[in-house]
Amino acid sequence: MELNIYHMYPEVLNLYGDMGNILCIKRRCEWRGIKASIKNFSVNSKTHDLKDGDIFFIGGGSDRGQNIVCSHFTKYTEEFKEIIEDQGVVLAICGGYQFLGEKYVDSDGKEVPGLGIFNYSTLNGEGRLIGNIIIENQIGITPKTIVGFENHGGRTYSDYKPLGLVKAGYGNNEHDMKEGIVYKNCIGTYLHGPLLPKNPHLADYLILKALEKKYGIKNLKELDDTLEYSAHEKVVEMYSK
Ligand code: GLN
Repeated sequence: MELNIYHMYPEVLNLYGDMGNILCIKRRCEWRGIKASIKNFSVNSKTHDLKDGDIFFIGGGSDRGQNIVCSHFTKYTEEFKEIIEDQGVVLAICGGYQFLGEKYVDSDGKEVPGLGIFNYSTLNGEGRLIGNIIIENQIGITPKTIVGFENHGGRTYSDYKPLGLVKAGYGNNEHDMKEGIVYKNCIGTYLHGPLLPKNPHLADYLILKALEKKYGIKNLKELDDTLEYSAHEKVVEMYSK
């Protein structure tokens, strides 16, 4: 068995250790005897074909980076939309999450167009939303908590099902207590950190979705995550209100 992991624009979108998410998926596959190949999808690559990707990861970036990526990615919008509709697995973080929507209005009031795959928008607000965040996941994985770190000026307003409900921190915006979005096997979220090593249950959720789509697999071999979950629990203990 083999999974192809596409790392989208690693040279531009890689804030706060987002790269760790890719390594986490790769290692958790390899520990189970599943081959995981990482492919960098970059502005400088000559040719691209996204169809053989099983998991797509888009990290966060600066407003400048978001602009570069967005204008480059536009020509792949239809292909990527089809991949999402066809249950392709996508994890998009912060700037990556914002740019799957219709637009991001930056701190100077300048509009950065999004891919428009989803109909939410992000507007810069006063002050940045920074700090540790705990959410209660809405995708049915155990433990219920997902922990991370957020740092964004944009506030996203969306009617999609959220990835989680905010227990500590801000999430999509500081008002509606929702964090991220879930649509089929696509997850958008503000949680950096990196997210997956802190939340092995979410990493396995994505791996299993990809294996299910490709090979019809319904269960993953258990790993010893004692250390990972004790770190997770510690964060929950420290930051829960
Ligand atoms: N530029 C976006 C914001 O500040 C995203 C930043 C990020 O990816 N951390 O809202």
